[in-house]
Order: sequence, then structure tokens, then C-alpha cells
Amino acid sequence: MPGVDSAFSELYQEIADCPNCPLARTRTQTVPGAGPASAELMFIGEAPGAREDEQGVPFVGPAGRFLDELLASIGRSRETVYICNVVKCRPPGNRDPQPEEIAECRPFLDRQIEILDPKVIAMLGRVSMARWFPGTTIGRVHGNPKPVDGRLVVPMYHPAAALHRGDLRSVIEADFARLPVLLEEAERAPSAPPTAVPALTIATEAAEIEQPPLL
Ligand code: SF4
Repeated sequence: MPGVDSAFSELYQEIADCPNCPLARTRTQTVPGAGPASAELMFIGEAPGAREDEQGVPFVGPAGRFLDELLASIGRSRETVYICNVVKCRPPGNRDPQPEEIAECRPFLDRQIEILDPKVIAMLGRVSMARWFPGTTIGRVHGNPKPVDGRLVVPMYHPAAALHRGDLRSVIEADFARLPVLLEEAERAPSAPPTAVPALTIATEAAEIEQPPLL
């Protein structure tokens, strides 16, 4: 596995060999994650799409290109952050991963978080955010962080959402623009509640959308 951080090599091999849920039968290959074990900023999306399944790399294609733009807007690149998904295998037809599939895959995600120990985790999309923001909608809570286990977790729209609803592009850009502040905040007082940051967008139920297929 050339190019894989040694801290992740063993885990990635376990993922590649995993038969633990039905997605193992339909995947082309697993998509474990990408980025250095030293990353302080982690992004967790939903599931690999068709291109990710082909290439074994998360967030490629149009949504990935938008993610690259968003990272550049805060002075970052893929090489400085860690990117993965809640499940490591593509659901057929890009359907949502099922709760039992998410549960089977969770130990891998937990180990990724343990290895990284990131300061900030950005949850991309409603399936991803459900772990720490259950019972609400992304339209209500996007961009608003909360402290969890000594770090900040913040829900955001999935970049693919902007490909289907152009009005969400500026919403996602505004939420991304706050990430450097959240990183500083997490470093200063990781166990304290984050400073309230005025909402930059009007978060309403009307802003809630169905997660589009990953492109
Ligand atoms: S989605 Fe996760 S649990 Fe299911 S087969 Fe793939 S790696 Fe294993």
C-alpha cells in the first residue's frame, strides 16, 4: 500500500479484508480513508460513490473537486487533512448506508479517530452527523460545533449538496471559513464549550435537503 501512513497500514489492510456486512459483496474495492496520521482536522463523509469505488480514494469526482476548493479557501490541501467516510464500501446505486452497515463499520471509524486524535472533526452530510447530532436536521445545526471527548465536532452539508443546489454553495463556504477558528478554539480549551459564533446563514428546515448521490 504505497503512500499510506504507517500508522494506518494495518488498519487499511483489515478494512480491505473485511467481510462484515453485505457491502463487501458488491464493492470493487474498499475506500478506507486518506491523509496523514498527524492531521488535526478530520472530515467524515457518508460512503464511497462510484468513482471512489473504482479508485479506492475518498472524495474524487465533482464533489471531491469542490472539497479541494473549500480546503484551498482555508489555506489547506488534502495532504494536511484526513478524509474518510462512515462506511468504507460503496452502497449499491449510491443508496444510503443502512444502520446495520454503519454499525458494522463503526469500529474502523473509531480506530481512525483514535489514531488521529484530531482537534476538529467535520461531519459532512446528514448520515455522518447523526452520530453526534441525532434527532435534528442538518439545516438546523450546520456550522455549529459542540465539544465531544476533548475535541470539537461540527456538522456541515456534504459538498455534493452544492452540486445539486447552487444556493448551498455559499452556506458550505461560510461553514468552512470557520474551521481555522475552531481549530484555534479546540487548541486553546479543548474541554470547554466553544465560543458562540454568530450564525452566518439562516438555518431553517427549508434548507434541509435529501443527501444527493455521491458523484
Ligand atoms: S462497509 Fe465496513 S463493515 Fe461493511 S464490508 Fe465494508 S469495511 Fe466491512
